[in-house]
Order: sequence, then C-alpha cells, then structure tokens
Amino acid sequence: MALGVDWAIQWLTLSAKVMSEHRAELIELDRAIGDSDHGENMDRGFQAVLDKLAQTPPETPGAALKLAAMALMSKVGGAAGPLYGTAYLRAATALGDSAEIDAAAIAEALTAARDGIVARGKAELGDKTMVDAWSPAVNAAGEVLAEGGDAVEVLAAAAEAAEVGAVTTDPLVARKGRASYLGERSAGHRDPGAASTALLLRAAATAAGF
Ligand code: ADP
Ligand code: MG
Ligand code: MG
Repeated sequence: MALGVDWAIQWLTLSAKVMSEHRAELIELDRAIGDSDHGENMDRGFQAVLDKLAQTPPETPGAALKLAAMALMSKVGGAAGPLYGTAYLRAATALGDSAEIDAAAIAEALTAARDGIVARGKAELGDKTMVDAWSPAVNAAGEVLAEGGDAVEVLAAAAEAAEVGAVTTDPLVARKGRASYLGERSAGHRDPGAASTALLLRAAATAAGF
C-alpha cells in the first residue's frame, strides 16, 4: 500500500496531538539533563504546524513535510528546532512531488532525515541524542524494505526501533548538546530528543494504519 498526502496530514496532525499529550513528560526528561523546555518547544512547534496545515493544505506528502519543516524551524527554537527542521526538509526533498510514496521512498526519506540531523548536529551513534533513535529506525526500515515489506511495515519497524533506541540512551553519557555539560551525571536519564523522535515515528506508523 502506497501512502499519499492524507497520510502525511494525518501524521502531522497526530504528531501535534502526541506532542501536546507528552509535553509534561518531555519537559521532565529535559529537566533532568537539560533546561526543561523540550516538551514546550515541541508542543509549540507542532501547534504551528497545525496552523499552517489549516491555512494552506498541502497537496503532496513532500509539500506537507516541507510545511512542517518551515514551522518547526521558526517555532521550536533551541537545538531541536533546527535539527527537526532539517530532518523534515531533507525528507521532503527526498519525497519530491510524488503523490504516492512506497516503501522504498519512506526508507529513503527516513535516511535523508537522519543524515540531515547528523550533518547539522555532528552527533554520532551513542552520543545520547535523537540520532540514537533515528539511526536504528533507518536501519530497521532498510531491513524491512529489503525483505519486501510495504510502506506501512517499514514505518512500523522504524517506530519500533526508535522506541528501543530511545531506551538505549538511558545509561549513556551525553557527548553532544546541553546534556553534555553534565558529563557523567547525564547517565541514568533518557534523552528527551530521542524520546520525542520515538513518539513522532510511532505517530507516522499509526497514521498509516498500523
Ligand atoms: P535545547 O537543548 O536547546 O534546550 P531542546 O531541549 O528542545 O533544545 O532539545 C534537546 C534535544 O536536542 C536533546 O535531547 C538531543 O536529542 C537533541 N540534540 C541536541 N544537540 C544535538 C546534536 N548536536 N545532534 C543531535 N541531537 C542533538
Ligand atoms: Mg532543552
Ligand atoms: Mg532550551
């Protein structure tokens, strides 16, 4: 089953709902190893995405993700704003103006998003950042694609791997971002950006009907 603009709009709408529902939880995670604003930043950013969707309904999945990128870049702020903005923009570019996207296109878009985050933030796997959720998601998507999985199965595998990846940040010592200022004291807490990534990728799979 290929996914169209309805899926993309559904994903972004569900993302806004999920960021609002998990706002307090993401704030708590960021309170432990950062500056307590990640939940607020993401909630504000996705409310702006909702506003833009209502103002100018996109006609393709790529246009929907581009609209989201612009809203996130201008409204999220902090470290996560430019990182997520770059991720959604690179994903949008990968999708181009296709009306329907298949499993290969989804896997490519996820890869482009992760590569954009790495290009911008220079974090490596294990640095206790959102990359620790994105990279396993990209790998899992590639594996399911290679096994002949469809778009929904690729998204479901990515969501699952991102959730596991977020949990793996718990014992890590942060080497990038604000949490790195804490050194060893950053261990024992989940990275907020990895947690929000897992929530967003789960929303993508749910929107696809998984
Ligand atoms: P800030 O740290 O500026 O307050 P947020 O709290 O919104 O921004 O976002 C923090 C999250 O951003 C971290 O949990 C981490 O996942 C992510 N992050 C920070 N720096 C980097 C980086 N260089 N590369 C990848 N992700 C990063
Ligand atoms: Mg913060
Ligand atoms: Mg901040």
